[in-house]
Amino acid sequence: MISRRIVTRRALLAGSAAALAGTRIRGVRAFAGNPFTLGIASGNPGPNSVILWTRLGPEPLSPDTDRPGGMSPDPVAVRWEIALDEDLTQIVGHGEVVAMPETAHAVHVECAGLEPGRDYWYRFIAGGEASPTGRTRTAPARGSELDRLRFGFCSCANYEIGYFAAYRHLAEEGPDLVVFLGDYIYEYISQSPKKVRVHSDGVEANDLRTYRNRYAQYRTDPDLQKLHAAAPCLMTWSDHEVQNDYADGWSQNFDDPQAFLARRAAAYRAYWEHMPLPRAAMPQGPDMHLYGRFDFGALASFYVLDARQFRSRLACDQPPKGGGKQITDAGCPERLDPRRSNLGMAQEAWLFEQFRTASAKWNIIAQEQLMAEFKERLDNGEIAHWSEDWNGFPAARTRLLTQMRDTRLANPVVIGGDIHSFWANELKVDFDDPQAPVVASEFVGTSITSPGPPYDRFSAWLADNPHVRFFDSRQRGYVSVDLRPLRMEVAYRAISDPADSRAELTTLRRFVVADGKPGPVTV
Ligand code: FE
Repeated sequence: MISRRIVTRRALLAGSAAALAGTRIRGVRAFAGNPFTLGIASGNPGPNSVILWTRLGPEPLSPDTDRPGGMSPDPVAVRWEIALDEDLTQIVGHGEVVAMPETAHAVHVECAGLEPGRDYWYRFIAGGEASPTGRTRTAPARGSELDRLRFGFCSCANYEIGYFAAYRHLAEEGPDLVVFLGDYIYEYISQSPKKVRVHSDGVEANDLRTYRNRYAQYRTDPDLQKLHAAAPCLMTWSDHEVQNDYADGWSQNFDDPQAFLARRAAAYRAYWEHMPLPRAAMPQGPDMHLYGRFDFGALASFYVLDARQFRSRLACDQPPKGGGKQITDAGCPERLDPRRSNLGMAQEAWLFEQFRTASAKWNIIAQEQLMAEFKERLDNGEIAHWSEDWNGFPAARTRLLTQMRDTRLANPVVIGGDIHSFWANELKVDFDDPQAPVVASEFVGTSITSPGPPYDRFSAWLADNPHVRFFDSRQRGYVSVDLRPLRMEVAYRAISDPADSRAELTTLRRFVVADGKPGPVTV
């Protein structure tokens, strides 16, 4: 948090607004309009802390490159408040930070000194305007017993392809935590006939201005705002936060890696600016520290992974087709090379050390993609694998699952997205051995809006993949989890139609995982 005070006209206005804390804010308008059009968010809840986020943007989609968000290039004082009640009458913390033009007037408050395991409400005030009020919740005290944690996870929200009704329904569940598993934005312009609305600038995001603009547009969505205002989040990314199917410095267009890393730097910067992440995570050029562990008492630890930034180049990645593709072991033995890593060796080492010292009852690995092996049978009968999810990194997957087994990691559960379909899988060190013990449970959530892969074709491949216990690519939605010490309940929620902003919700399927018995069981 920046504590220094810059006295500008706006700072003075914000100061006078502060004197009115707890009352309805009125006064001189310092902005061209409401500066809180992008809403608010909170994230990374700890036992005594949470990160509060907003970004000032009275004209969120302003095409004026000198005034991103419609803000003139001055620092602006922003007051924040956190309270025990929704009406913000019992304020327990407040302060002032300076929103800087260099970071698009984003605000990241590292709010400390909170009590564990309770709800809080917060808002921001700037230029005589108050933001919406958000609800957040701290994690329980370290190591304390917790009898229940309700969380949702979601991924793949293409703004052009649908409305975010799924986000609204998740918000209405009032979870303790929301985990975003990637494709929070889509960088490209869709050519799909299923388009129901447009990315307003009409161009593929590829620099700081266009990535900022993309995040700003997503954050104007009322359903996404409602979800962020309902619960704190944990965040990781997939590919579309930068470019489809990229890996580290390798672009699907075979761009020069140095040029691509400059694009990645812009994308990571805009990502950090728009997420409730710590100031320490602010990227340095193309490098950003995103992965980490988040504990919820003795009940659960979440390991939030970054499976993009340090990823080995895709196996057999050569022209003409970049990005993911089907590859066979005869045609592309490189896939099996043990030097290949999805997380990078440093993150793998970190994760394995976490496993060795883990003490929570449930260990949730939150990452972007399908982890189970998935054999795809080609027309000629050969088995192929998709090169662009964990199937492109089988040795790394084996290392991870072996480590889970050998450390006797308690109740490991992998959650993922990216593939725009629901899956419930048994994870094994050896997927080819039907007798091999199940090491972990895997739940993959479908997309918020993005179209799924062909149902019939994928369903035909299930016979070669008996560890896949459920698959459905025909529905859009999210996953709702009710975690208790002896039982994890998982509900696959589906919306009626992504083209309908008022889409209704049904529960497609329910699973449980019992304590000590890895593998999803249908109920
Ligand atoms: Fe996606």
